[in-house]
Amino acid sequence: MILVFIEHRGGVANKSSIEAIAAAQSLGGQLQQPVTVVIPGSDVSALAQEMAAYDVSKVVGAVHPKLADYTPDAYADAMEGMVRQLEPSFVFLSHTYLVRDFAPKLAARFGKSLISDCIRASTDGANIKFTRRIFLGKLDADIASDGEAPVFATFQIGSYRADQAAKGSGAPVETREAAVGAVRMVPEPPFQEAKQAVDLSKAEVIVAVGRGIKSKDNLGLAEKLAQVLGGDLAASRPICDAEWLPIDRQIGSSGQTVAPKLYIALGISGAIQHLVGMKNSGTIVAINKDPEAPIFDIADYGIVGDLFEAVPVLTEEIKKIKGLS
Ligand SMILES: Cc1cc2nc3c(=O)[nH]c(=O)nc-3n(C[C@H](O)[C@H](O)[C@H](O)COP(=O)(O)OP(=O)(O)OC[C@H]3O[C@@H](n4cnc5c(N)ncnc54)[C@H](O)[C@@H]3O)c2cc1C
Repeated sequence: MILVFIEHRGGVANKSSIEAIAAAQSLGGQLQQPVTVVIPGSDVSALAQEMAAYDVSKVVGAVHPKLADYTPDAYADAMEGMVRQLEPSFVFLSHTYLVRDFAPKLAARFGKSLISDCIRASTDGANIKFTRRIFLGKLDADIASDGEAPVFATFQIGSYRADQAAKGSGAPVETREAAVGAVRMVPEPPFQEAKQAVDLSKAEVIVAVGRGIKSKDNLGLAEKLAQVLGGDLAASRPICDAEWLPIDRQIGSSGQTVAPKLYIALGISGAIQHLVGMKNSGTIVAINKDPEAPIFDIADYGIVGDLFEAVPVLTEEIKKIKGLS
């Protein structure tokens, strides 16, 4: 069985946990193993019902008053107990800050290492491979576990798509009392990375600008396109380094990883450090005047041309289609 950890804040699931369900369903399908989800918390009944809609064999709420707020001690204790009780072959988690905080400790309690930040889990029948990017995304490495259960793996955000997680016909929900020992930490209000106006990992449409936009004064062009599409504005690193846009809009290895339905790259060359942050987007459209730009290697649609000519035309056409002009 593959056990999936569901992260939530105040009963609202982190979207990347649904991606972890998709990862588990994918490997589970290949190995013919069922998927069970576990939700630690003080009262998770509403969220458990929500998770029961997915095609999983069971939803387990691991409840304890000390799990009302996240602490690594309480979560590691609760998850250790659930893993010992449920005896999964695999434990899948999404590679969030919270998971990075407690999952190594959890794996160590089983004498296991954590196979972290994977982009894929697959099997050729005999062996199970976890693929992770190394050397800033220049190479993909296949990692084999020692095969002994439980195998702990975390998945990079965006490596599986939440909307690919299959729905089922209502999985049974079970509540179990979690065993939680002494908690040494005092939880504080959750850390906000920035005064984030937008969480790009949840955006369905992203219009991203690169150095091809030339000047901060030209950002309005991209903003208008994002606006007519109901999308969000993002950027490559040089744009954020130049403070034309805030750092929380940066996509890539040192920025955010996103997987929107539509990603439009304007004047972005497609350096590997940028691609690792967006290559799992549903549809990628690139506008670049250089036909050799690497962004075209991964683009579904490309316009070789000057973005200052193409973007206003595109924006006007979309407005017409949407009846906005
Ligand atoms: C450790 C490290 C971490 C990094 N992390 C990140 C990261 O998280 N995110 C990131 O994005 N980068 C990151 N980088 C930087 C990365 O290597 C690239 O330098 C960067 O992505 C390039 O940004 P760009 O595509 O906007 O600029 P450029 O590479 O300069 O590309 C500009 C593109 O615009 C096109 N262009 C120019 N004018 C026009 C026009 N009028 N119309 C259409 N196209 C035009 C050009 O043909 C060109 O392809 C990192 C680098 C390092 C070393």
